[in-house]
Amino acid sequence: ERVLSGELSNFDERFEQSLRPQLLSQYIGQEKVKDNLGIFIEAAKGRNESLDHVLLYGPPGLGKTTLATVIANEMEVNVRLTSGPAIERPGDLAAVVSSLEPGDVLFIDEIHRLNRSIEEVLYPAMEDFCLDIVVGKGPSARSIRLDLPPFTLIGATTRAGSLSAPLRDRFGVPLRLEYYEVEPLKEIVIRNAGVFDVEIDEQAAVEIARRSRGTPRIANRLLRRVRDFAQVRGNGAITLGIAKEALEMLQVDSHGLDHIDHKLLLGMIERFKGGPVGIDTISASIGEESVTIEDVYEPYLLQIGFIQRTPRGRIATPLAYEHFGYAFPES
Ligand code: ATP
Repeated sequence: ERVLSGELSNFDERFEQSLRPQLLSQYIGQEKVKDNLGIFIEAAKGRNESLDHVLLYGPPGLGKTTLATVIANEMEVNVRLTSGPAIERPGDLAAVVSSLEPGDVLFIDEIHRLNRSIEEVLYPAMEDFCLDIVVGKGPSARSIRLDLPPFTLIGATTRAGSLSAPLRDRFGVPLRLEYYEVEPLKEIVIRNAGVFDVEIDEQAAVEIARRSRGTPRIANRLLRRVRDFAQVRGNGAITLGIAKEALEMLQVDSHGLDHIDHKLLLGMIERFKGGPVGIDTISASIGEESVTIEDVYEPYLLQIGFIQRTPRGRIATPLAYEHFGYAFPES
């Protein structure tokens, strides 16, 4: 398991529930998203209506599921959590939506993985709060219409581009979650250290935040590992020294890069003179699939300005050269 992966692991799952903020005021960072949501929620509550359907998109581990739960809490309704791959047949969707109470939130994670036949059932459910279900087969098949209570669909996806246009258009409130800056991540680390009942220095929290790739899930994971280290090698408190030592041992560098990022960047610098180099060539040279590079490794490296995408391929930037102590070639 990659310690710097934004994806949920079984190990994370045991902790995340207890670390989830419950209200918008406890949800740290993502100020633009919170400002927008705060207004929409207040307006919907003022009109006594359900909230418009919300689409949350952005890299894994930034807090989409958490935000869906927060929205439901703020609207004072229940939330049902499911995911695209879990809804295999139209009947699965019918079973979930028909059990909702008026105003409830239905959260569908990985909504880009819903199959087309289910999307078609979802359209009238989102627009008119009804379901058209076909019963029977062949010439005796007929369609029956089921009325649903008004509800809010919150869809989450890491790949907004993979969503079909008709589905995307049916979300009144599309919100993009951004990688977190160090300051809000530091606050998350300090808050969660409090939940774990661990003492932590502010500088140590900054150090963990800086190496967490802008991702709360990674910050939480690093915090847990550093906590173990502090318990075994120190007196339990997380100081800057303990944090640095632990992170070094985990092979997470000062910018939150690990050996795979190193292999990728050093490959570009040493073997391809910094590029431009095509994604397939990078893929073959480091033995990772192109989609994994595009979805998992590249977004953060683009975000921190270590690589750039050009029409002719990826290039390593002067920042990347500097990070590894190389001089940027003049030409
Ligand atoms: P995925 O895309 O894999 O479903 P996600 O984006 O839904 O991930 P969450 O599961 O919501 O991510 O968040 C991961 C963990 O990060 C949560 O358990 C929570 O502890 C923490 N977290 C996320 N966002 C925030 C935040 N804004 N404030 C405090 N903690 C947060």
